[in-house]
Amino acid sequence: MKNTEDLVIAIDGHSSGGKSTFAKALAKKMGLTYVDSGAMYRAVALYALENELIVDEKVKRQDLIERLDAITIEIRFNSEKNRHETWLNGRNIEDEIRGVEVSKWASTVSAIPEVRITMVDLQRKISKNKGVVMDGRDIGTVVFPSADIKIFLTAQAEVRAERRYKEMVENGLQASYHEVLDNIMLRDHQDSTREASPLKRAKDSIDLDNSAMSMDEQMKWFEELLEKRREE
Ligand code: C5P
Repeated sequence: MKNTEDLVIAIDGHSSGGKSTFAKALAKKMGLTYVDSGAMYRAVALYALENELIVDEKVKRQDLIERLDAITIEIRFNSEKNRHETWLNGRNIEDEIRGVEVSKWASTVSAIPEVRITMVDLQRKISKNKGVVMDGRDIGTVVFPSADIKIFLTAQAEVRAERRYKEMVENGLQASYHEVLDNIMLRDHQDSTREASPLKRAKDSIDLDNSAMSMDEQMKWFEELLEKRREE
């Protein structure tokens, strides 16, 4: 197995399953770069919302495809806030892309194959020659099919909704628990049934159901997994 700093770790799973919290903690512990692939689809959704590419609850698909070249997405590290932030065409959009509306449209725009091709290219480009932990829906299946470690992480929908709702309240975002649960169930359905790279577990991924696990327990689980892999 490779040196720790060169590992590529793919974490896929349903919405709001705690993938990013887990991935960030792993990246920090192992000195790897964290890449949030969902933030990129969220950025495309925000661009579409702001540029009249979503009208009457519908995405103007062809227009969006033609505008993909005009969308520049960057992930920059903010040392003051000690976090990675998403930038869209030179503007920090990290906080704007976390609400229910952008979440809903991110799932819709991510079903467009041309959007996926562009985002997958970007995901590979920013991870080139680096050890990374990347979370998403198709990381182990499409983006990095030969990732060193693939984890399929999930939790019951109600547990995910509860966590996401609490997080939103803490961040001052408006939503009701039921709205959050509906949004999660809708995104689960859209992500699993779309034609382009649907969410599915890679054959060689390891399942982790964290419904009743603390972050410490998840980290311990990972350490044991890594240990076992190193022995193999
Ligand atoms: O992970 P997150 O919830 O931030 O992702 C937002 C949306 O982007 C998801 O609902 C999913 O539809 C889409 N997505 C995707 N492929 C990825 C990451 C996210 O289709 N690799």
